[in-house]
Amino acid sequence: MGRRLLLLGPPGAGKGTQAKRLATALGIPHVSTGDMLRLAVSEGTELGRKVEAIMAAGELVPDDLMIAVVEDRLARSDAQCGYLLDGFPRTAAQADALAGDAIDGVVLLEVSDAEIVSRLIRRAEQEGRTDDTEDVIRRRLEVYREQTAPLIGLYQERGMLHEVDGVGSVEEVLARVVVALAGEPA
Ligand code: AMP
Repeated sequence: MGRRLLLLGPPGAGKGTQAKRLATALGIPHVSTGDMLRLAVSEGTELGRKVEAIMAAGELVPDDLMIAVVEDRLARSDAQCGYLLDGFPRTAAQADALAGDAIDGVVLLEVSDAEIVSRLIRRAEQEGRTDDTEDVIRRRLEVYREQTAPLIGLYQERGMLHEVDGVGSVEEVLARVVVALAGEPA
């Protein structure tokens, strides 16, 4: 099974939940750009101050900033034998920046829009994320469709895409992801 993996899918598809479990199972680091940015905001770092308003509005952090953050993270020693990227790439420019690194597989978690909105509203109640209000959710979905969904075709053309039904229990979906990736060369 390839060890440089990407998880793609709309906000609310369950990427974070699945990525954590899959990364643990494979013994590779879970690299979530959303988690890294939220940490920077909560710590009040320079990066956090730059991205706070952008995230609260559901917009994307500029590519140059995001690419630098991910390059730094992937240069660390724990990522040298593989990683699971969650939330990156989100734009064509970000996908280009990764192209030098041989990606082994891409998993697309598929979930309908109606299911996404209800999941995100539930998550807002449970986790209190400031970008989970209804207007911002709608904007994040729009941004996903415009900027990130086109990457699906790109990875499909490269023969790397595994489409997985993201509706079901956490265990059911994880099992589907593992089966989908099992077809990857070692
Ligand atoms: P996530 O937790 O992946 O949904 O990310 C939360 C927010 O962080 C997004 O709505 C963006 O504002 C920002 N973000 C995370 N990853 C990226 C990325 N690869 N490019 C641009 N913005 C990002």
